[in-house]
Amino acid sequence: MTGDRYYSVIHCRLLNKSSNPNFNLYTNHLRDDPFCEHCNEPEDSENFLLRCRRNKDARQIMFQNTRPYHTLSTVKLLYRNPLLNDKENAIIFKEVQRSIKSTDTFRQ
Ligand SMILES: [Zn+2]
Repeated sequence: MTGDRYYSVIHCRLLNKSSNPNFNLYTNHLRDDPFCEHCNEPEDSENFLLRCRRNKDARQIMFQNTRPYHTLSTVKLLYRNPLLNDKENAIIFKEVQRSIKSTDTFRQ
């Protein structure tokens, strides 16, 4: 992992489906429903990173700063891409972490 330690941990938890989004809590029997209160879709890593309207502004900046690596997917955002070099993967990971940091979902 790269970047700020706290947000590297959140990044890893999104990858492992063990973080706060409601779908992950629901899957781990810690919540009664998997839905996002903002968009009413199952709140999983893909919803959090790529679809939820709550994170629209953070996502737009992430999209702009990762333009050379589009098309983005949850896999490309959360896992090391073997077709990219370490510097390129670090750029994507830092943008994911910046995006996570700029939302209220994972405040320290
Ligand atoms: Zn949502």
